[in-house]
Amino acid sequence: MATLIRNGRIVTAVDDYVADILVDDGRVCSIGRGLEAGADVEVHDAGGLLVLPGGVDVHTHLDSATPTASTVDDFASGTCAAAFGGTTTVVDYCTPQAGAGLLAGLEDWHRRRASACVDVGAHMIVRDAEAATLADMRTLVEHEGVSSFKFFMAYPGALMLDDAALFTALRAAAALGALSCVHAENGLVIRALVQAALAQGLTAPRQHALTRPAVLEGEAAQRAVGLAELAEAPLYIVHLSTAQALAVVAQARGRGLAVYAETCPQYLLLDAQEYERPGFEGAKFVMSPPLRDASHPPELWRGLKGGDIQVVATDHCAFTFGVGPHGLRHSKQLGQGSFDRIPNGAPGIETRLELVYDAAVLQQGLSIQRFVELTATAPAKLFGLFPRKGTIAVGSDADLVLFDPAERWTVRAAEHHSRADYSLFEGRELGGRVKKVFLRGQCIVDGPTWLGREGMGQYLRRGASGQV
Ligand SMILES: [Zn+2]
Repeated sequence: MATLIRNGRIVTAVDDYVADILVDDGRVCSIGRGLEAGADVEVHDAGGLLVLPGGVDVHTHLDSATPTASTVDDFASGTCAAAFGGTTTVVDYCTPQAGAGLLAGLEDWHRRRASACVDVGAHMIVRDAEAATLADMRTLVEHEGVSSFKFFMAYPGALMLDDAALFTALRAAAALGALSCVHAENGLVIRALVQAALAQGLTAPRQHALTRPAVLEGEAAQRAVGLAELAEAPLYIVHLSTAQALAVVAQARGRGLAVYAETCPQYLLLDAQEYERPGFEGAKFVMSPPLRDASHPPELWRGLKGGDIQVVATDHCAFTFGVGPHGLRHSKQLGQGSFDRIPNGAPGIETRLELVYDAAVLQQGLSIQRFVELTATAPAKLFGLFPRKGTIAVGSDADLVLFDPAERWTVRAAEHHSRADYSLFEGRELGGRVKKVFLRGQCIVDGPTWLGREGMGQYLRRGASGQV
């Protein structure tokens, strides 16, 4: 089935023009003015709308479990939510079970992702730097299309690598041409601060932020950059949230190092005031890193404008606030009475494009091209998906978003497709809205109507990281 999208204003990271797009066999086959529709062609009028490449969200945790909690969104609900928000590609973090190998972890992840409604790739979380793990890393890059790894400097006793293991893993990833993603927070000092707070009987959600101070992200980022430099490894710092870490990235980039940074809408648009909400409400905002004080977001905007931050992803890791139909294991209520037991993470996969468009383009004055670059093109390039994903060009997958830049609307969790029962941005008024979404040429979202189906998402074998 061929599809023709007429009269849209096509915006990519470098383009802005009005034309028609003809899609055949899932790919863009021609772009031009006045293209003819054959008899069996489905026609969509995009007059007055932007036509954007489908969003690429390179930081999600779908159907992911810790020993005590499980995210509430599986691949079916999470990627349906993504699609309604204009995201057609997700690169999700595969977390292998403790003690299980990386390949077994990927096999298990493939079983879970089989219900995905948009295209999905996997990053692999690496818990140690043992010989068997390093061998699995090679297999993943060479045979499984997994070309990025994640190393934690936080969560001692669970996911954290010590400095020697981190260095060894960085060097192994670099030798394979893979990109190293790092969660930069000093986990051991955070653990000491958490224990001190609990010993004083301080248990409210706000303690989550107070025990993970900004300086411990800056310190870890500095250490990560130093170890990556020694290992000659390109480095991608995930969910960067502080001025301190940004300064580290800027300085490293200034020295010509291949250091990249990602931030998320919550760090750009919210601050630690949210933890002062009454009762247990602050738990909705418990994520790691935490929201920072109001001095940080303006610095992050400076980083986006100046190019030191290249990607806006979500870190979608959804739990319900109430217990709800999915049970306590999926709920923030696990942390009632003790902030250190609140599951870390928040929903966000559905609102990324609209939040960033409103904030970046309408309020901060970034160009629409830069908005596309941050949310689609740069992540596709960095994670080995470009030009199949992240742009609109002849031969690229026809992942397209028809976007009304004039519509104003209000964020309501009750209208979302995630299983989370709240939004970090409830009640926020936005300008610009996703109207139709195409995955490889097939219209899967038409206004409020879902036309996609579980399992239609394909697994993306990713290539080497590209330059941005
Ligand atoms: Zn994450």
